Amino acid sequence: MAVLIDGTALAARMTRETAARAAQLSLQHGIVPGLAVILVGDDPASRIYVERKLQRAGEAGIRSIEHRLPAHTDQETLLALIAACNADDAIHGILVQLPLPAQIDPARVLDAICPGKDVDGFHPVNVGRLSTGTGGLVPCTPLGCMRLLETVIEDFRGLKAVVIGKSNIVGKPVALLLLDRECTVTITHILTRGLPEIARTADILVAAAGSPGLVRPDWIKPGAVVIDVGINRVRGIDGKARIVGDVASEGMDHAAAITPVPGGVGPMTIACLLSNTVRAAERRGA
Ligand code: NAD
Repeated sequence: MAVLIDGTALAARMTRETAARAAQLSLQHGIVPGLAVILVGDDPASRIYVERKLQRAGEAGIRSIEHRLPAHTDQETLLALIAACNADDAIHGILVQLPLPAQIDPARVLDAICPGKDVDGFHPVNVGRLSTGTGGLVPCTPLGCMRLLETVIEDFRGLKAVVIGKSNIVGKPVALLLLDRECTVTITHILTRGLPEIARTADILVAAAGSPGLVRPDWIKPGAVVIDVGINRVRGIDGKARIVGDVASEGMDHAAAITPVPGGVGPMTIACLLSNTVRAAERRGA
């Protein structure tokens, strides 16, 4: 029977540790970590994500400042707000909720965030630091995947890892983190040929495709550890909407361990965002 890796419990533990670090920072240096969260438009899913982040920030002793801008906001207005947050010493982390409305170029916006405050880890400087293994702020979902893997794997060296998906926010950075731990990494994507055979070679399989139930039980090598990043809204036969991952939810007993959806990677993403924010503030205090 595969071990179910409990992301909700691990995220709660990590958030308690982050709160303790925030308290220490406040006690020793009088710094209260501050996180600016910027939401442009009223996409319902983005609103829910932002509300969750703000709520959890409070639990971790982080002061959050929410900026809600209308959907018709132009790029210059958003860039001016980011410049103001960059200059504000009380703000240690800046998060711009994606996706942005069509009139705004996300690359311009992410480039404008000061790398030291880029708690999402999307700025080219932080991407470069990740690829050269020289510190920097690491994207939250990939960091969460690594923390989950560390609960069941002691020694990553030489393990074969297969990542499904090559996005800048999940696939590529998680592949770099696995490479940094001396795994042999294969990155795959929608045009990869023979994906099931490649997946079957994996000791660690990370599925981040956004395709419900893509990974079938016969894609999994016995004893593999499976991280399911996918969040897909589907309708069941009862007509009710529910969230499923990229990995089939049944027939995975031969895996060594697997993350559930929901309750796996999702809660870890927010926990890592809070940890990154306190880390950014700690660097300021150092
Ligand atoms: P994306 O659309 O930017 O990238 C998807 C990648 O998967 C692409 O590289 C694409 O080539 C590949 N892909 C798509 N279908 C495939 C298929 N059938 N076979 C092989 N490769 C395929 O998506 P993303 O932003 O990287 O997100 C991926 C999934 O992870 C989504 O379901 C998203 O909702 C989820 N996600 C979850 C969290 C979390 O906190 N748990 C965070 C970010 C993303």
